[in-house]
Amino acid sequence: MTIALEKSTKTKNSHKPYQFRRFLDLQWSDINCDLHMHTSRTDGKATVSDILQLSVHQGLSCVAFTEHVRKDTDWFPEFAQEVRSNAESYFQLKVLVGCEAKALDFNGELDVSEEILAECDLVLGSVHRFPNGQGGYINVSHLTSQGFAQIEFELALGLLKFAPIDVLAHPGGMYYRLHGEFPAELMRELMKVSLERNIAIEINTSYIRNLPNFLELCAEVNPYVSIGSDMHRLEQLANCRDQLFRLGVGA
Ligand SMILES: [Zn+2]
Ligand SMILES: [Zn+2]
Repeated sequence: MTIALEKSTKTKNSHKPYQFRRFLDLQWSDINCDLHMHTSRTDGKATVSDILQLSVHQGLSCVAFTEHVRKDTDWFPEFAQEVRSNAESYFQLKVLVGCEAKALDFNGELDVSEEILAECDLVLGSVHRFPNGQGGYINVSHLTSQGFAQIEFELALGLLKFAPIDVLAHPGGMYYRLHGEFPAELMRELMKVSLERNIAIEINTSYIRNLPNFLELCAEVNPYVSIGSDMHRLEQLANCRDQLFRLGVGA
């Protein structure tokens, strides 16, 4: 528990620029945003400026640039500055500086530095690989689908319990990509813990296979939710908002 306490006291930008809403309280103004986007700074294809222009054109009210980072990422202050100075030209749009960092172990150790956290309005935590606890990664080809789901679940649980995050990004995402629909009982448990910890669960339309099923669970547990397209190409911008709108969410 000592370790856990140390981790939970990790600093994070103390002002809360974004107020997440619980799923059943969502209104149009809450879903009219995109809070998960990547630029050409990492593996995205578009520039900050291109994305902001299109965001206004699409009528979005809020966007978050959530670039991939690691502990040794050295360009983050420069990136944050680039986002903030570009945003000045778009007074009608709320623009957040964020990052997406991955779990390094089962205790919520996040691949991010204090310096980066201090710059961020929004911190996304994700499971991108399965660490083996010895600095390497588990060979997933030896895992059953059940074993795979359990490991991803436990890594996500560590993030929810101990990491300085605002959003659990694409819960079950690795499983979705490799095996299909993430087991509902595990997703339900992640949502419940996220609610206890006041962390938003991401509705990530780049990963979720069956959006109506996912939303059914959201309606049951009613967690705080974040809207994210995980945009890498411009045509994916606002994809999450548009899919939710078509399903009548926030109406
Ligand atoms: Zn991710
Ligand atoms: Zn991402």
